[in-house]
Amino acid sequence: MAYDSNNIFAKILRGEIPCTKVFENDHVLAFNDIAPKAPVHVLIIPKGAYVSFADFSANATDEEIVALNRAVGEIAREKGIDATGYRLLANHAEHGRQDVPHYHVHLLGGADLGPCF
Ligand code: 5GP
Repeated sequence: MAYDSNNIFAKILRGEIPCTKVFENDHVLAFNDIAPKAPVHVLIIPKGAYVSFADFSANATDEEIVALNRAVGEIAREKGIDATGYRLLANHAEHGRQDVPHYHVHLLGGADLGPCF
């Protein structure tokens, strides 16, 4: 699937749509989900144009992959949910019900999320 530069997260990265930013560095932006499913619901995205986990894991540089994963851990610590726990989720394509076609990791926590399955 080709990257669609008009997707919502691309617009957020370009500053065309506002977001509540919680973290940023050279490779990563993280912001609160607009429709949170938990007390903490942060979306962590690479700044590079990657459609999905499949695209990111195959085509991102090692530096980008490390940066995104380190950011997830850092945000969890900053949000104070490291000790109590959290859930990471990345939806991919049709069966994964991915809605926004720019790779993103959901970080959910701040309460008992219940069973995943
Ligand atoms: P997906 O289903 O693609 O894994 O999740 C997309 C997420 O993006 C959803 O949780 C949805 O609430 C969130 N979202 C959609 N549009 C916006 C927006 O304009 N701003 C923010 N902050 N989140 C959005």
